[in-house]
Amino acid sequence: MPDTGFSPEQQEYLKGFMAGVEARRGSLAPASERTAPPDALRAAQDRAVAAGGKLVPQEQAKRERHPLDRWDELTARAAIGRFPKPIEDFIGRYHGLFYVGPAQDAFMCRLRIPGGILSSWQLRGIADIAEDCAGGYADVTTRANLQYREIPAAKGPEVVMRLGDLGLLPRGTGADNIRNITASPTAGIDAAELIDTRPLVRALHHHILATRDLFGLPRKFNIALSGGGAVEVLQETNDIALTAIETAEGIRFRLNLGGITGHRDFARATGVAIAPEDVVPVCDAILRVFIAEGCRTDRARARLKYVLDRMGVDAFLHAVEDRLGRPLPRLAATGAPVMPAKHGHIGIHAQKQPGLRYIGVATRLGRLTTAQLRGLADLAERHGSGTIRLTVWQNLLLSDIPEAAIPALRSGLTALGLGWEASALRGGLVACTGAAGCKFAASDTKRHAAELADFLDPRIAIDQPINIHLTGCHHSCAQHYIADIGLLGAKVERGEETVEGYDLHIGGGAGPEQKIGRLIRKAVAHDELSPVVLSLLQAWLRTRAEAESFHLW
Ligand code: SF4
Repeated sequence: MPDTGFSPEQQEYLKGFMAGVEARRGSLAPASERTAPPDALRAAQDRAVAAGGKLVPQEQAKRERHPLDRWDELTARAAIGRFPKPIEDFIGRYHGLFYVGPAQDAFMCRLRIPGGILSSWQLRGIADIAEDCAGGYADVTTRANLQYREIPAAKGPEVVMRLGDLGLLPRGTGADNIRNITASPTAGIDAAELIDTRPLVRALHHHILATRDLFGLPRKFNIALSGGGAVEVLQETNDIALTAIETAEGIRFRLNLGGITGHRDFARATGVAIAPEDVVPVCDAILRVFIAEGCRTDRARARLKYVLDRMGVDAFLHAVEDRLGRPLPRLAATGAPVMPAKHGHIGIHAQKQPGLRYIGVATRLGRLTTAQLRGLADLAERHGSGTIRLTVWQNLLLSDIPEAAIPALRSGLTALGLGWEASALRGGLVACTGAAGCKFAASDTKRHAAELADFLDPRIAIDQPINIHLTGCHHSCAQHYIADIGLLGAKVERGEETVEGYDLHIGGGAGPEQKIGRLIRKAVAHDELSPVVLSLLQAWLRTRAEAESFHLW
């Protein structure tokens, strides 16, 4: 048994507790001791079974006892460091904890930070938790969120409780739940924005957390809102994509549905444009139709995209209208959405508030050490309003900085080993966790991304932003299909041995350049990757029409 800090007597007690939990499970449990899943979930499962299907194990687990009520099992198992079945990991993910065994007796924890906007005191608390309970760092994710790794199993519940103390309870950040809501990181400070999305994101965040029957969807679910402005949110890669537009009736959100770029699909247009005050009820109704109609018997086809493929957009919208009890407004947009420039947020930018600036800070592939987290909190507080804004580009912004404080802030960032300048390559370099911390990875994405940038930067000068995304497996956390150069982890046969490498895709894009990248070369070994990418970029610079973007080349 691993060293958990518990005495032998306590460990015996916990073993007994777990035996009791096992004995109370399923049909052995008296009804009064069980907590039933929500009716809508049970009804959807019943329909799937009546149609001749067999529920997948995850659905069985939801049916047995609501995973949010299984905190007692999670804490008891964490105390004795035993998660022998994948389904136990599935339960833990409802509480934000991802067990990474058997390779490591440890958890990953994904936070819930609405819109990616934090206060300095929260960031300091996050640093304290990283120091006491995780690997001494946190990673900025491609959903403008943070993740801890290397959490000893016995400390997993402690991390969740301490995050709750900070107002950042990570409930539902894994498994079949609604992930952290992504939104424009410059909300409220951007002269080009159409609407400040912060109050809407906050309302939706709390609605989800407080609505028990929105936990336990057929599969995971992503929501993003763009209020317009300088920084791309990649909302069209989400299940619900809301984009602010100007209409004759005022500001509305264009509703697109079913984005899932790992399955090569952007969110599709619905023709619906909703008022800001309708964001919460319409999202709720969409989620309830998904709960009723989503697949419970095949995990590979359980995302919203497949419901839309089966029902069609019109029938789906009618079902949403039935839930809402009123029609959804179909409005013709009178203006195009405000489309941001490609990863142009690093550096110093004017805010809509006169005399104030925000500064885009480049991280090294999203990783922030405890010292950097604390240092950023101090700088945000000393020179600005104490606000830290994470981006989907694995970078961050510090906002509300008076012009006169910029030099001191720059010095402070330099002292922390963080930059406010990035080359056209580094500003758009994105990598998922990869083999260093994820059991699905075919390649060590973060290491190879760093090597790639170190190789390319001194050898080639790029005059416009390029996105290079490295993703370790088909789950595509780093969204390789929407990158100018997208690299998907692959095992490469080399004589007798197998080495890490990538399938090379080019020509993807998001926002105004929306396009799924195409595969041009399979199985490039990681140690051959840098010269291959260099020649690709050189060929583009040599042969492009004047200022032609890589995306169009
Ligand atoms: Fe892990 Fe795959 Fe996601 Fe990378 S893309 S973090 S390897 S699941």
